[in-house]
Amino acid sequence: VKQAGRNGVAFFDPEMEAAVRQRHQLQLELARAIDTGALQLYLQPQVDAGGRLLGAEALVRWPREDGTLMAPGSFIPLAEETGLIVPLGNAVLQQAAALLQRWQSEAALAGLRLSVNVSARQFRDPQLAEHVRQVIEQHRIPPQLLELEITESVFLGDLEAARRTLQALDALGVSLALDDFGTGYSSLAYLAELPFDTIKIDQRFVARLGQHSRQDEAIITTIIALGRQLQMQVLAEGVETEDQERYLLHHGCHGLQGYRYGRPMPVGQFEALARAQPTP
Ligand code: C2E
Ligand code: CA
Ligand code: CA
Ligand code: CA
Repeated sequence: VKQAGRNGVAFFDPEMEAAVRQRHQLQLELARAIDTGALQLYLQPQVDAGGRLLGAEALVRWPREDGTLMAPGSFIPLAEETGLIVPLGNAVLQQAAALLQRWQSEAALAGLRLSVNVSARQFRDPQLAEHVRQVIEQHRIPPQLLELEITESVFLGDLEAARRTLQALDALGVSLALDDFGTGYSSLAYLAELPFDTIKIDQRFVARLGQHSRQDEAIITTIIALGRQLQMQVLAEGVETEDQERYLLHHGCHGLQGYRYGRPMPVGQFEALARAQPTP
């Protein structure tokens, strides 16, 4: 029999109703975790062609009551669907800026760049640039040390609005990276006009290197050549093996990120890694 659920939604199936309740519960818990600052940043090293540490990508983790850490793949989609991604993203920005501020007073950490992910929905938040401006000012950080990773999905829809937002962010002096490049909707024609500093080659292409696929190799070498032509830095993610590293460097890739250089790790562990680097 058809019954009206709590929100006036009709449920046909008790299993489906249970799933909806569970999802709603998770949403409430996530909202609380954002409010109480319970989400944690894990940092994954990024290195240059000479193996020197450039900085890190901040990847969010949700510590659960049972002591496990929930990976973003299990809650970012929910956050995007419910709009929680905006406060979540702002909390991540806030934490990243606070970390950068602390790093500026220590020689081994000052100058390291921190990249944060900005989801498409957060990118479309009209307050985004103003929020970024505020965290930079509040923490008095060199803006170029904060990098925003943006995926091509922001260019679906209103391209002009996306361009204006990018320009507003660029005017603040932050670095801009085009994330997961090669998987989406980028048109070469507009890539050339947008103020990106870095192109990140999607790990799917890197993973297939070494399988002697001419197509994947062609895609990677083309992306690197394109980035270089456009005076952008090219960073490959998901680098796991020496062969992948050799191929990427041979073709002129500037930056590398992947398990080969370190998994996402707690902040303290990343700082210890940075302190252990040889001083230039
Ligand atoms: P992403 O931005 O593409 O991040 C890279 C993902 O690849 C991370 O997964 C990282 O742990 C994983 N990875 C890094 N190196 C390797 C490697 O060598 N091999 C393999 N197989 N994987 C590698 P993670 O941490 O689970 O994050 C997944 C996605 O969740 C991210 O993909 C990003 O889209 C999203 N995400 C994470 N943190 C945030 C955040 O603060 N805000 C938003 N909006 N999204 C986030
Ligand atoms: Ca990313
Ligand atoms: Ca710029
Ligand atoms: Ca990526």
